[in-house]
Amino acid sequence: MLGSSRVIATNIDESLPFYLLDDYRKELVAEIKRIEKIGDKLALVLDDTIFYPGGGHQPHDTGRVIINGREFLINKVEKRENTILHYLNEFTDTTKLPVGSKVKLMIDWERRYRIMKLHTAEHIFMECIRKEGYDLENGQWGPDKGLIVFNEEIPPETLFKCEAGTNKIIRKDLSVYRVINRNYITIKIDEYSERPCGGTHVSRTGEIGFFKIISILKRGKAVYFNVGNEAIDSIIKDYNDLLSIAINTLNLRQEIDLRKVNKMILDTVKDFSGIRNQNEKLSRMLIKIIIQLPYREVKIGEHVFKAHYLDLTDLEVQPKHLKRIGQLISSGEKEEFVIFKLSEESVALIFKRSKKLFKKLRKELRRITKNESTKVQVSSIEGGLVIKSMNQNIDSIIKLIQTS
Ligand SMILES: [Zn+2]
Repeated sequence: MLGSSRVIATNIDESLPFYLLDDYRKELVAEIKRIEKIGDKLALVLDDTIFYPGGGHQPHDTGRVIINGREFLINKVEKRENTILHYLNEFTDTTKLPVGSKVKLMIDWERRYRIMKLHTAEHIFMECIRKEGYDLENGQWGPDKGLIVFNEEIPPETLFKCEAGTNKIIRKDLSVYRVINRNYITIKIDEYSERPCGGTHVSRTGEIGFFKIISILKRGKAVYFNVGNEAIDSIIKDYNDLLSIAINTLNLRQEIDLRKVNKMILDTVKDFSGIRNQNEKLSRMLIKIIIQLPYREVKIGEHVFKAHYLDLTDLEVQPKHLKRIGQLISSGEKEEFVIFKLSEESVALIFKRSKKLFKKLRKELRRITKNESTKVQVSSIEGGLVIKSMNQNIDSIIKLIQTS
């Protein structure tokens, strides 16, 4: 074992770069072997390095180098025919970089450590995926998040099964070894996995902390993932975004039970996953949501009506989408009165045409249209009416009475 990495080496080749002997080394003093001029850039060739030059889907390192007391940024490192080139961010007089002089290398450790965690997480996750019969086609571990492209589309259940499996291995805090035999290098995660790999990794799976698929692309052909606190933070953010959309859409400001909202969303998605027609799906979802909502007091003209009120402004619902709801409500047995806020300028009123309600509503709508200051347009839709304000916010005409 060297440094904090666990390296098992036999027949070690002296030309092995230092990052393969100690992934945790942040600084190294090296010697300039030569300077190469590539385009308008200067690149250092050193006798040894802690900078990973990129390759095997792992990004190259970045960092700094101090040469004769002067500091240069290294934003690019690459390997060309077994030579590792460290590009300097600025051009300088090459006579000030004599061959044989000592330089101090410093890698951008935070960035590199993150890549090590992402890379090791990929080994653990892909081991599970391979056991499920799929393989890796492409990817990129870092610098901010990981991307894995599979050889074919993978169903979400399998992806989430392997996500859970990956977190199990992380929690077991297994040792990670680099096994070197001359130029053949494998990464061995205890008894769980062993793969040929020349990249950098953490030495214990527990260092990864946590693994999460953050998005599934192209019907399961690829995933983005993240690790550690960044993964947890992104879950919290996504979860809260989803909840606030649900809370606002469902008008649940007065009674927020997160589990209830969550269950409502899950149930709704499950119930309608088999319906192909988007319009039908939307209608049935809305109906399902409506029946769970309490009646609210809504002032139209001078009269206060009791109705279900649902704010759909975020969903870009158009009156034509409400046709099916109109049919369902107008043919239903109960006297339902539903108000959908469609935008800041318009609402749809959908109701069972009871004579009493219709008469009252017509009277109030006449009152509104006669009023000089309110310019509104009333049009019929299946099972109801759409009221569009031409000159002011619809909330000032159709008022939801806030009850505390
Ligand atoms: Zn690897």
